Amino acid sequence: MHDAAPPLLALHDVTRRYTLPRESLFAPAPAIEALRGVSLALHAGRSLGVVGESGSGKSTLARIAMALEAPTSGRVEFMGRDLNALGAAELRAARRDFQMVFQDPYGSLDPRQRVGRIVAEPLALDGPARRESAVAEALDAVGLRAGDAQKYPHEFSGGQRQRIAIARALITKPKLIVADEPVSALDVSVQAQVLNLLIDLQQQFGVTYLLISHDLAVVDHVCDEVVVMQHGRIVERGDTQQIFRAPQHPYTRSLLAAHEPMNPPAPASARVAAVSEEPR
Ligand code: ADP
Ligand code: MG
Repeated sequence: MHDAAPPLLALHDVTRRYTLPRESLFAPAPAIEALRGVSLALHAGRSLGVVGESGSGKSTLARIAMALEAPTSGRVEFMGRDLNALGAAELRAARRDFQMVFQDPYGSLDPRQRVGRIVAEPLALDGPARRESAVAEALDAVGLRAGDAQKYPHEFSGGQRQRIAIARALITKPKLIVADEPVSALDVSVQAQVLNLLIDLQQQFGVTYLLISHDLAVVDHVCDEVVVMQHGRIVERGDTQQIFRAPQHPYTRSLLAAHEPMNPPAPASARVAAVSEEPR
């Protein structure tokens, strides 16, 4: 019944080719097909996981879904609009509805800026009073304090820095958050807390996720649907439980055989507690 509505995000036969430097003056420039005919539909309120080994095209898919780069062919639609047909001002406005969280909370936060400024960055055009209250609200939503806005990134742990990155993504109240390996730079002990925060935020704000991870346990924990990527193609897709319990494609089976389970996630009732227990 969800699926009768048009999808929030849709990729139609998306291809992305990168041309690499020539090895010699006379050699043809080699090219790599990072995405080959990728189609998917993500409906509002759902969470779609993307799994696949390193180099399978996951981050390319994320950048294309976020209109950070254009496909070589194919279409990307957000709420029915072709993202790559928007003018610069339209795209800037549309970006408030889709935000990204990157893997590395160290690299993605400018160390010279205070947290308040970092978190407010997607609100560039809003007035200062509105910015301050929005920052306080976003920090609160991720389990940090309004006063943390005055601090610098180095004053926080890895998990807290990723909470700051999530607050920055949340601040425009986006419909979609694309998270590319959001916990893979974190200590295993902190990973489940950040994933549970994502789940809580989805329940609270109805945000939709495209969650990319090489770690099947991460996707299993958060996502209701999954696509499995190999060499730039989707080789299997469907309900997460079903795919992980009864994989059909040999590549999915090999991924499952290779994966080590994450430390067991906290039960749902312990989630909120776990979020605030992280050492500050
Ligand atoms: P994943 O995130 O699954 O590890 P990526 O999307 O980063 O995969 O990369 C897919 C393939 O595309 C890899 O072979 C990678 O080397 C190549 N690739 C990605 N980005 C670029 C780029 N900007 N220029 C050239 N090749 C790239
Ligand atoms: Mg990647």
